[in-house]
Amino acid sequence: MTVYRERVLLVGTISPQRFPSRDGLLTYGRDSTHVSQKDRDEDEPLAELEQLAITAGAIVIDKITQKKQKPDVAYYIGSGKVAELKEFADENDIDAVIFDNDLSPGQIRNLEDEIKTKVIDRTELILDIFATHARSLQAKLQVELAQLEYTLPRLKHMWTHLSKIEGGVGIGQRGPGEKQLEMDRRIARDRITKLKREIGEINKHHQRTTENRSGYFNIAILGYTNAGKSALMNALTGTNCLVENKLFSTLDTKTQLWNPVNHYKALLSDTVGFIRNLPHHLVASFNATLQEVIEADLLLHIVDIFQPGIGQRLQAVDKVLEELGCSQKPRLLVFNKIDKIDPLELQIVGKEFPDSVFISAKEKKGLDKLADRIVEFIAKNETLSTFSVSAGDGKFLSYLEELGNITSKTYRDGMVRIKIRLSPHAKAKVTGYLEANKKKDK
Ligand code: GDP
Ligand code: MG
Repeated sequence: MTVYRERVLLVGTISPQRFPSRDGLLTYGRDSTHVSQKDRDEDEPLAELEQLAITAGAIVIDKITQKKQKPDVAYYIGSGKVAELKEFADENDIDAVIFDNDLSPGQIRNLEDEIKTKVIDRTELILDIFATHARSLQAKLQVELAQLEYTLPRLKHMWTHLSKIEGGVGIGQRGPGEKQLEMDRRIARDRITKLKREIGEINKHHQRTTENRSGYFNIAILGYTNAGKSALMNALTGTNCLVENKLFSTLDTKTQLWNPVNHYKALLSDTVGFIRNLPHHLVASFNATLQEVIEADLLLHIVDIFQPGIGQRLQAVDKVLEELGCSQKPRLLVFNKIDKIDPLELQIVGKEFPDSVFISAKEKKGLDKLADRIVEFIAKNETLSTFSVSAGDGKFLSYLEELGNITSKTYRDGMVRIKIRLSPHAKAKVTGYLEANKKKDK
């Protein structure tokens, strides 16, 4: 069976505001004499959009950029450029024009009218990819919610579109259209309410399961999409996370137990990849999927050292972490794919980021050093844990008192909920104790 792959044209505008990365590079202390990385960055302003389009299954025919200070209200790009796009689309059988920016419903309508091809904006493209990659029920519901919330204000646009195809312009434009639109909106709103409720239920359940494993030191592997997070997880734990040269192959978090060195245990979670300008609806709706990040004791921030625009990607991750309220969390910066660059380049990045670790997940290089650094964190980071135990379990209660400092105790329905500060080692002991007792009960 052959699957038809859409032929797409990518469009972006370049302005100082759209590409803060160049300042970002400086902010991150990238050596200005080190031109190769910077060049890669500036040569490919649409590199990320291209990756996204390929991930969505499209064939990228060409990329067009326009230097523009302020977006055009009607078309986003200038009207001369629109005419150019139309000509190109006609000549090259383009199925869709994809913009690197978010467009207003009006801009999409105007562009489609002029170019006579489907026009897709950045958020729509990302939502589309998320929809095809969501595997768990939780991820699927979250994507559907994000899609509906994004389309609701655009339903008018969708309907006008449809009425034109069905009834032609001019005939019965208003009456049935408005009624239909009202109905569509109501259906969409009802569905949104239902989705929010279902997601809320799942989150509650999720919270309970994460509480149960709170005795462990939790490490969240995060970073820009395609950085090699899943590859690292596999290299460290010998498990089988999906490793793909695509964006967003991991939409659902996977968690694995890992022994960095003897007597130390940690839970490693592989998370969804971050991306520059992640639509804010998505950050909100993926909150639960990113719960591992929010609850982690340590964030392993993985960066692809070979890909252009390191500064840009570091900023993208910073921004999302800020939105998640996690910017203060302990973080270890890990540069991956060192097998792909030459030693000189490695040295330069090493000087710029002296506190980071350099690895190759693929060739299993630098993993021991990484483990040592992580153990340092585990050893020095005392964390707050929560346990729920039966109020009658005096033995366990005194065991806890012995190991750490209890900060609060709340009694409810015969259970005590205890918040306690424990060293990771003590935490591991408590977890071991609980596990042993669970086995005894069986
Ligand atoms: P994720 O999206 O961050 O989980 O990235 P993946 O683990 O799926 O890896 C993305 C791509 O990078 C895959 O094609 C991997 O084979 C490749 N990759 C991962 N780590 C390395 C590495 O250390 N060196 C090289 N050369 N490629 C790597
Ligand atoms: Mg992955």
